[in-house]
Amino acid sequence: MFDIRSLFVVMVATNLVLAFSLWIGTSRRLAGGLAPWTLSLLAQAVAFALFAFRGEIPDWASVVVANGLLGASFSLIAAAILAFRGASLPAFAHVAAGLVSAFAAGAVVHDLGARLIVANALFAAAQLALLALAWKPVEGVSRGAHGLFVASFALGAVSLAARSAGTLLAPGSIQGFLAPSAIQTFSLMAAYTVVLLSSVSFLLMQKERADFVSGQLAATDPLTGALNRRTFVDLARKQLARARRVDGPLSLVLLDVDHFKNVNDTHGHLAGDEVLRRFAEVVRDQLRTEDVFVRYGGEEFCLLLPDVPGPGAVALAGRIRKAVAKTSFAIEGKGISLTVSAGVAARIDEGPDGLDALIARADEALYIAKSRGRNRVAAVSLGRSRAA
Ligand code: GH3
Ligand code: MG
Ligand code: MG
Repeated sequence: MFDIRSLFVVMVATNLVLAFSLWIGTSRRLAGGLAPWTLSLLAQAVAFALFAFRGEIPDWASVVVANGLLGASFSLIAAAILAFRGASLPAFAHVAAGLVSAFAAGAVVHDLGARLIVANALFAAAQLALLALAWKPVEGVSRGAHGLFVASFALGAVSLAARSAGTLLAPGSIQGFLAPSAIQTFSLMAAYTVVLLSSVSFLLMQKERADFVSGQLAATDPLTGALNRRTFVDLARKQLARARRVDGPLSLVLLDVDHFKNVNDTHGHLAGDEVLRRFAEVVRDQLRTEDVFVRYGGEEFCLLLPDVPGPGAVALAGRIRKAVAKTSFAIEGKGISLTVSAGVAARIDEGPDGLDALIARADEALYIAKSRGRNRVAAVSLGRSRAA
């Protein structure tokens, strides 16, 4: 049988090491919910230390304050989960959680059995609330890390509820708070596992999300949010291979803003940047989620349209052309009107079928649109060369 006081001491040490590692390991920045998480670890460390001295220090410290700190540690975890999701919890929630827990334990300070039932039921409910908060998946976080995180709260809820119910059903099983018993050992081991599992999985989720965000930043153009050319080439090769495998359609549209040099010359480069940013918004408004929007270079953009045959792409390019022509790109009170030319090419069975060939055909179509006077859509290799 394990010595209960030693288990508490191990938990104090573990919580302190985890809190210290988080603080130092993040260069004392503790962003994205790690600050309340670290505070929660510290609050629990103090609570466990006070539990370990049960009988040797006054009950108001070892019972009332310790349970109050445990209650506050759970609301701090709630704050950490919310912060990770970009939301927040008002500070008075921690005071309320601490006071409720302290008063609940204080009300039955002279009855260990009643206290174990009340406090463990209360904390089991807190773990269930944390489980509910953690339940929704987070973009960029793997199912594995998120699953471990949720599982840690499920384990916490089940073990605390079992402790409460066990005491209720078998009141004779309690010899004393620090008396060695199988049920007390099981509860502490479960609590220890919950602290480790939830902290490690929370850190994993932080790392995965940071990787996801930096991956997205590396893949997109900062001005317009469209994918950059390098990412497009990788993606387009894969989409083209897939289309070929299933023998499905795929189209490519090159968009080039007409006489954009004039915008820069007349209104300045900064206004030109703003116009490009807004132009990208107008285009994006016309797209479906599966359409790939790329800044191909300067004022040239590209659309990769999986499962869209040539005529569908011509129609979409036409809608974009019209939307751009009727938008007033007002910069500093001055309305700037813009037109765009588009070249459309579609995957065809006959002839060269690689990405370079597809881009070359779209480029050829764009040249046709420009040479016919701009503000129009042209297409080649949609079965036969045609302009629209
Ligand atoms: P065309 O109708 O033949 O396409 O004429 P154009 O003026 O649009 O074409 P050209 O290729 O001669 O000029 C493109 C201009 O786009 C020149 C360049 O300064 C401008 N440009 C490219 N990238 C940016 C950018 O990021 N910001 C700004 N403000 N201008 C850009
Ligand atoms: Mg241009
Ligand atoms: Mg150009």
